[in-house]
Amino acid sequence: RDLPGDPDTTNQLRQVYGACWSRVMPTSVSAPKLLAYSSEMLQALGLSDEDINSPAWVNALGGNGLIPGMEPYAMCYGGHQFGNWAGQLGDGRAISLGEVVNSQGQRWELQLKGAGVTPYSRMADGRAVLRSSVREFLCSEAMHHLGIPTTRALSLVQTGDVVIRDMFYNGNPQAEKGAIVCRVSPSFIRFGNFEIFAMRQDKQTLKTLVDFTINRDFPELADFPEDERLAEWFAIVCVRTARLVAHWMRVGFVHGVMNTDNMSILGLTIDYGPYGWVDNFDPGWTPNTTDAAGRRYCFGRQPEIARWNLERLAQALYALKPEREIYDEGLMLFDQAYNKEWGAVLAAKFGFSQWRDEYEPLFTEVFDLMTQAEIDMTEFFRKLALVEATQPDLGILQSASYSDALWETFKPRFSDWLKQYSQATVADGRDPIARKDAMNRVNPRYVLRNYLAQQAIDLADAGDNSLIEELLEVLRHPYDEQLGKERFAALRPDWAKHKAGCSMLSCSS
Ligand code: AMP
Ligand code: MG
Ligand code: MG
Repeated sequence: RDLPGDPDTTNQLRQVYGACWSRVMPTSVSAPKLLAYSSEMLQALGLSDEDINSPAWVNALGGNGLIPGMEPYAMCYGGHQFGNWAGQLGDGRAISLGEVVNSQGQRWELQLKGAGVTPYSRMADGRAVLRSSVREFLCSEAMHHLGIPTTRALSLVQTGDVVIRDMFYNGNPQAEKGAIVCRVSPSFIRFGNFEIFAMRQDKQTLKTLVDFTINRDFPELADFPEDERLAEWFAIVCVRTARLVAHWMRVGFVHGVMNTDNMSILGLTIDYGPYGWVDNFDPGWTPNTTDAAGRRYCFGRQPEIARWNLERLAQALYALKPEREIYDEGLMLFDQAYNKEWGAVLAAKFGFSQWRDEYEPLFTEVFDLMTQAEIDMTEFFRKLALVEATQPDLGILQSASYSDALWETFKPRFSDWLKQYSQATVADGRDPIARKDAMNRVNPRYVLRNYLAQQAIDLADAGDNSLIEELLEVLRHPYDEQLGKERFAALRPDWAKHKAGCSMLSCSS
């Protein structure tokens, strides 16, 4: 409300100028049904189980009504998609309901995804399918429990309506169940929110939005001299983004669509679409079929792309303060922060007490081996924690292999590597138990493997939510061994290797 709004209050498609948001009403659905919710998020919002199960809340979370105080709106933003400026995008199917300030003074914005068309829906229907909604709901919460900055998810509601999607753009549209996720975040502002005004040479709105964002979301800048705030703010965004991506690389998360409209100004993971988790370690892997040829957004390129996106943000801010040095400085801080963070991540993942330059060849060699020999990333690091440095046993690591033949081929190299790694570990001198515990705190046992999400979806589609609930529970404690839950740590089964939804996903969600 403190930002310039669009005077037009219809859902009519249009270009919106000089405004950051448009008032818009969710489009009602046939039969909203609450399938799942996050109890942590419920608590953070000061709501009870009774509240969320009440008809008033189920209706609100399904887009069929408002709780008093809600004033729904959609935001205007642009973005660079796959490297090209795409013009106005905006919340095409996301509708913010309002914000809650809880008893601890935390502010949370509630936003429905899939609640119908807005002025920004372009050619699309404003809806989301159950498939992608289950994926967003589960992964948002899983990332949070992994300790990775992310937007959250409060609820998953089935709409009772059908949505038509052509998952593979092959002219074969299918009817799928519709659903709505209520996501939650202190802010949903993206790099693209700033870019749109810069591209339109609307300096005034750009300035208003920058001031608003700094005042509301970056209280640490309050005492900064006015003329240094923009530079300092950009630097903070660079550093937060660097940390975010280092975390993604740590756990094998591939966002899949790192367009600038999917980059949170708070450095949160935002927009869970065709994301995926690396099974066999492979820097070239992308889950996004739309990106299969170019691999712009593959696992290994994420740091480089994050930086490219920050350059686009810098370009947008340049109009407000045309001094190249401040953006160069911020980007340099990105490089520094990423290198520092990634060095710390690597040392921790391999169980060393700190980063040492001499480890570098060890890391390079093992990543190359893991790629060539098709080694499961998650399993590898959990098993590496079990290796006794004084008596290294290569056999422990074999369970991370996807191919017996490749394992045999690469065994001699692995064996050499393990010897050197063990020597370095002994030289590091850490207590073996402390080393193992520390490794298990940064190397998750359970991640939302693509095939697991797909199994939960297939069941939910048949009316059974039990796997959504079970995964939600297992992923609450991703670093702990959980008795009886071993199956959720299993390597991707063969049948899932080329199955839709398990390793190949499209943006069509
Ligand atoms: P994404 O690739 O998910 O980041 O989406 C890019 C743009 O397309 C954003 O402006 C979205 O709001 C919009 N969009 C994606 N799916 C839909 C949909 N089903 N209906 C309306 N807009 C959509
Ligand atoms: Mg998006
Ligand atoms: Mg999306």
